[in-house]
Amino acid sequence: EFVQPFSIPEEVIEDIFTAMHKTVPEKKHMDCGSCGYKSCRQMAAAVANGYSKIQNCIHFMNDDLVMKSFIDRQLGILNAAGFTKKLEETVRQHPYNKYIVCMGNINSLGIINDLYTKRVGDEVLFSVARSLTDFVGEEGGAARFGGGVFGVFFEYTAEKLDDFMSRKNFDCRHVGVGEPVTMRFGMAVHNDSEAPVEVTVNRASHSSGKTIDKTRNTYNMFTTEMLNELTVESRVTSEMQEAMKNGEFKIYLQPQHNIKTGEIVGAEALCRWIKKDGTLISPGVFIPVFEKNGFIRPLDKHIWEEAFLLVSEWEKNGVKGVPVSLNISRKSLIDDEFISVIASLQSKYNINKNMIHFEITESAYIDNADEIADRITRLKELGFKIAMDDFGSGYSSLNSLKDIPLDILKLDMGFFRKSENEERGRKIIGLIVEMAKELQLVTVAEGVEKPDQAKFLDRMGCDIIQGYLYSRPMPVKDFEALL
Ligand code: C2E
Ligand code: CA
Ligand code: CA
Repeated sequence: EFVQPFSIPEEVIEDIFTAMHKTVPEKKHMDCGSCGYKSCRQMAAAVANGYSKIQNCIHFMNDDLVMKSFIDRQLGILNAAGFTKKLEETVRQHPYNKYIVCMGNINSLGIINDLYTKRVGDEVLFSVARSLTDFVGEEGGAARFGGGVFGVFFEYTAEKLDDFMSRKNFDCRHVGVGEPVTMRFGMAVHNDSEAPVEVTVNRASHSSGKTIDKTRNTYNMFTTEMLNELTVESRVTSEMQEAMKNGEFKIYLQPQHNIKTGEIVGAEALCRWIKKDGTLISPGVFIPVFEKNGFIRPLDKHIWEEAFLLVSEWEKNGVKGVPVSLNISRKSLIDDEFISVIASLQSKYNINKNMIHFEITESAYIDNADEIADRITRLKELGFKIAMDDFGSGYSSLNSLKDIPLDILKLDMGFFRKSENEERGRKIIGLIVEMAKELQLVTVAEGVEKPDQAKFLDRMGCDIIQGYLYSRPMPVKDFEALL
C-alpha cells in the first residue's frame, strides 16, 4: 500500500487536475488504475510529490493529443477544426441563441511581410489573434484558419455586432507597423441549431471577398443573392465530374471573319455544357466555379484535346478547315505540366501547328510575370500562335506586349461599349490598332454587334471580326456546314 508522505492542499490537487485536462467531475474520478495508482486523486497527489508525471496517465496523453489537433501551433488559439468543434458545442448547449460567424482575411499580409520582415508579420498575426480572442471572450470563439485568415463567432445581438463592426482597423504600432492593419470580414448568422455549422462558416467566407477597402476593416453580411451563387456553385461542383465522364462538355465554334471580304478565316472554341436532357449551360455559369475549385484544368485539357481531334479529322477527311483558337485559363497556365500537356497532344495528333492558336488573358500575366512570359515563349517555340485575349481590360497591357511573343491582339468591343464616352473609346481603339500594326500583330475585334462598329474597325485597319453581327458560337456540325 502506497502512503503519501505529506498531505496535499486541495488547490494543488485541483491545479494538477487542470493540467491533466481533468476539468469535469467524471474525469477526476475515472480511477482506471492504469497509471499504477488506485484513483485519479492518488495519482495527482503522487505527481505533487514528484513520484509520478502527468504523462503517465493515458487519458491525459489522449486528451492532450486531441486538444493539440484543435489548436493552431504558431498562435496558440483554435484552428479550423477547433473552431468548428467549439461552435458546434456552443450551439448544442444554447440551441435558442443565434450566433454570428465572421471570417476575416488580413489585407496585404504579404506586403507587411515584405516591408517589415516575416518576424514582424508574425507579430501582427499574434496581435490580431489576441485582439479577436479578447473580443469574443469565453462564450465565443476565435480561430486561425491558416495564413492571415481568422474566424470568430459570438452571440448575435445588435450591440455586440455593432461593437464588432465599429472596429476600423487593428492597431499594430506596438510591433512597429505604422500604418493600420485592416481585415475584410464576411459574416453569416447561424440561426438554425440543427444546421451544420460548416455551412455558416462557408457562407461567411463566401461574403468576405465581395467589397474590399484596404484602408479600413470591411464587413459584408451574407445575402440571398450570395445564397443563389453558392447554390449554383455547389450544384456545379457536385455534377462536374460525372458530366465530364458523360462527355457533356462540348465545343462550340464562333467564326472569325476577314473584315474586308467576310470570309471565315478562323474560329474560337468556346465550351458549352450540354446536359443529358438537352439544357445548355453557358460558360458564364460554370467557368468561374471551375476557376475557383480547380476543375478548369481538366476542362481546358478536354477542350484542347477535342480541338486537336477536330483538326486532325479535318486533315484526314480533306476538309479545308481554319485555325481554331483555344482559351487557356490562368490556372492551366501556371500549372507546371502545362507545356508537356500540349506537347503530348501535338505528338498524339500530329496536326499542322498553324491550325491551333492559344489565347491568354492579361490577368494571367499580372503576378509572376517572368515565369508566365517564359512559358508562353516555350508554347510559341512549340510552333503555335499566341493571342492576347480581352486586350485593354486589365492592368498590365503594355508590359505584356513588350515581354510576351504575341502574334494576335484581341480587343473586346464590350469593354469599350461600357465606357461613358464613346468618342474616347473609339480613339483608344484606333490607337491600339495602330500600335498593333506597328508591332506586326494581327488584330481581332470581338463582340462586334453593330454594322457601324464594323465599319469603324475597318477604317482603323483592324483585320478580323468575331461577333454576333456575323455569327454566334455554334455546334461544330453547323460550323462545318458554314465553311
Ligand atoms: P472569351 O474568351 O472572351 O470569349 C468570348 C465571349 O464573347 C464568348 O462568350 C462569346 O460567345 C462572346 N461573344 C462573342 N461575340 C459577341 C458579341 O457580339 N456580343 C456579345 N455580347 N458577346 C459576344 P461565352 O462563350 O459565353 O464565354 C465566356 C467566357 O468563358 C469566355 O470569354 C472565356 O473566358 C470563358 N470560356 C469559354 N469557353 C472556355 C474554355 O473552353 N476554356 C476556358 N478556359 N475558358 C472558356
Ligand atoms: Ca477567348
Ligand atoms: Ca475575349
